[in-house]
Amino acid sequence: MDYARRQDAIDAQLEKLRLEALLVTHLPNIRYLCGFTGSAGALLMHGGRPVFFTDGRYTAQARAEVRRARVVIAKGSPPLAAAQFAQGVRLRALGIESHHMTVSARATLHRALGPKTRLRDVGPVVERLRMIKDADEIALLREAVNLGARLLDTAVHAIGPGVTESEVAAELEYAARRAGAEAMSFATIVAAGPRSAMPHGVASSAAIPAGGFVVLDFGVILHGYCSDMTRTVHVGKVSAAERSMYQAVREAEQAGVDAARAGVACGEVDRTVRNTLRRAGFARYFTHSTGHGVGLEIHEPPRLARGEGGALDAGMVVTIEPGVYVPGQGGVRIEDMVVISQSGCDVLTAAPKELIEL
Ligand code: ZN
Ligand code: ZN
Repeated sequence: MDYARRQDAIDAQLEKLRLEALLVTHLPNIRYLCGFTGSAGALLMHGGRPVFFTDGRYTAQARAEVRRARVVIAKGSPPLAAAQFAQGVRLRALGIESHHMTVSARATLHRALGPKTRLRDVGPVVERLRMIKDADEIALLREAVNLGARLLDTAVHAIGPGVTESEVAAELEYAARRAGAEAMSFATIVAAGPRSAMPHGVASSAAIPAGGFVVLDFGVILHGYCSDMTRTVHVGKVSAAERSMYQAVREAEQAGVDAARAGVACGEVDRTVRNTLRRAGFARYFTHSTGHGVGLEIHEPPRLARGEGGALDAGMVVTIEPGVYVPGQGGVRIEDMVVISQSGCDVLTAAPKELIEL
């Protein structure tokens, strides 16, 4: 990982903001900037000489993982150790990631710094940098997506009338760990029958009915990077209405993939997807946004949503995931992860999109 480039980019941002230092406390941002994967740490970006603070539990791990930052093992909490350091070098202002900080953590930091150092919220500067994935990251994301896609078969084989949603999720997650996944990227969604109309129907103890859709939305974490995909299969005889619903979502998803390329506004991709569903008469059942960035976190900027004016850029990795949810009946969602390029996008998710009938 090119930590030097990433740290340089943050230093350049700080210079623009006329800020001497930034305290990075959001763990994925810390990992992105210096490689630390543990659960307690604070990274002080300071005049090209970053210092990483962690506690005694991570002495060995920090020495093994952290790149391009001095490691300090703190007695107390890492952010407070960073505050003491900041006092020592007489900072006038310290940038913070207040969107990742509780009100009480901010107050504690403020007290520890004393009246001479001002806290300044810098917003998601690290997240903005993380939106564009470098070649190393795209390779890791590709690996995670491939592992995830290979699990679809396992899940599909587990599905049948009377089997519970959580049994299907269990098979899928067991296979994921066997294949090397570090964890699932989020609580696996297996939503069958009427529950498929709930966009976030996390696998429950409900049994799969003899007829209807089953939405499978899942992802794995591999080498720290998340995958995210959705496929919808059908149990029993497919009605004409169900077939047209599936077809509409499939066409909308394809329209989203076709529209996504560098320079196109995120909101424009969402509009294209929504318009495709509107022509098929299903737009009012599409109740969430079209997609989101994926990387070290499952949900990252950018958002592909109504009114998002920011443009897609080459190297962004986003999902395209339209769905149609008819309350009381059922729902369909299809989700791929794509890498944006100048000329279009490359679909990472290698799994069929024809309706699988069981
Ligand atoms: Zn998903
Ligand atoms: Zn998603």
